[in-house]
Amino acid sequence: MNIHEYQAKAILRDYGCPVSDGRAVTKAEEAKTAAGELDGPLWVVKAQIHAGGRGKGSFKEADAGEKGGVRLTKSVEEAAEEAKKMLGRTLVTHQTGPAGKQVNRIYIEDGSDIESEFYLALLVDRVTSQISFVCSTEGGMDIEEVAASTPEKILSFSVDPAAGYQPYHGRRVAFMLGLEGKQVKACVDLMGKLYKAFVEKDMEMLEINPLILMPDGNLKCLDAKVGFDGNALYRHADILALRDETEEDPKELAASKYDLNYIALDGEIGCMVNGAGLAMATMDIIKLYGAEPANFLDVGGGATKEKVTEAFKIITSDDNVKGILVNIFGGIMRCDVIAEGVVAAVKEVGLQVPLVVRLEGTNVEKGKEIINTSGLNVIAADDLSDGAEKIVKAVKG
Ligand code: GDP
Ligand code: MG
Repeated sequence: MNIHEYQAKAILRDYGCPVSDGRAVTKAEEAKTAAGELDGPLWVVKAQIHAGGRGKGSFKEADAGEKGGVRLTKSVEEAAEEAKKMLGRTLVTHQTGPAGKQVNRIYIEDGSDIESEFYLALLVDRVTSQISFVCSTEGGMDIEEVAASTPEKILSFSVDPAAGYQPYHGRRVAFMLGLEGKQVKACVDLMGKLYKAFVEKDMEMLEINPLILMPDGNLKCLDAKVGFDGNALYRHADILALRDETEEDPKELAASKYDLNYIALDGEIGCMVNGAGLAMATMDIIKLYGAEPANFLDVGGGATKEKVTEAFKIITSDDNVKGILVNIFGGIMRCDVIAEGVVAAVKEVGLQVPLVVRLEGTNVEKGKEIINTSGLNVIAADDLSDGAEKIVKAVKG
């Protein structure tokens, strides 16, 4: 689960990390009062969307030369004016995709003077199963670009969870960033606080880009992007309360309410599969036969008829779906339950596209019988290749 920059900064502030004072607003009328509560002489007006690259992004229907989603202003009036201009419009950045995201909230922040911009991130490294620090002197810009063209400018190391964070970790970061004197101590302190926040809040990613050095020698977190481990949210009611459902794909949101593992993709073949491994294999084989999957969907081991019905409805609500492949290997999951769910869903929402069903495993005969006697126009498949071939053929001819 992701949160907004202003929410992430509130968490960092609670942990004693240096962040600027700021106010989040959802209405243009509130912007002037909010800006007036900050000291100035610089006010930064920032669009709050769950995507990075806002500064370099651009609004749809922007005037020539209009700035992106991060604007520096010199007065309360100007800050309020820029906030008003951005609210309600759609911001496109390299992370939003071409459709962009609607800006429903603006964060007005007390502006900072910048001496240098650094990149800093903490993330769970799946190779070492440890929390890693990633830092670079090349902050503020695309870290992907830095990683590709000048990887030597990025330092990455992981922290042994048994020993936890140690001051030498912070010093490694400080020396990589070229910090000196009391800045090193401040960096060691800040890295320790970030690590603590990361562990205690079950974060998956914490990206500070840029972490800045100010002319007065102090460090500050100027941007913050945080993602949490969805499997740990049950023990963080405070984090769950920060969820902004308007930022999420409506289909993914519906799926999460039924505990379905669903990710929307760009292709034309809707997939309903049980087990993440089989779901991945199904996506691969659809590609092999020349089409693209419209989604990843794992209905899980113990899915009920209702859950399967809901999953089917989510797939069919996607306009890009031109055909559906149901690929079930019944182990814990019973084929007859899947069959009943599919039949119930089709009766409820109708079927406008070809449907290929491949069932194997527990109660497969019963499952096939339910499908065959349902009167539905279903194409039966014998195995994974057969299923993929048939659905691609049905869609592409
Ligand atoms: P992003 O584009 O979504 O990553 O948004 P950021 O919060 O990182 O802001 C983009 C850029 O705006 C930063 O890299 C800075 O160069 C600039 N910026 C943001 N806040 C301030 C500020 O308080 N003072 C100054 N001088 N520049 C800022
Ligand atoms: Mg940034």
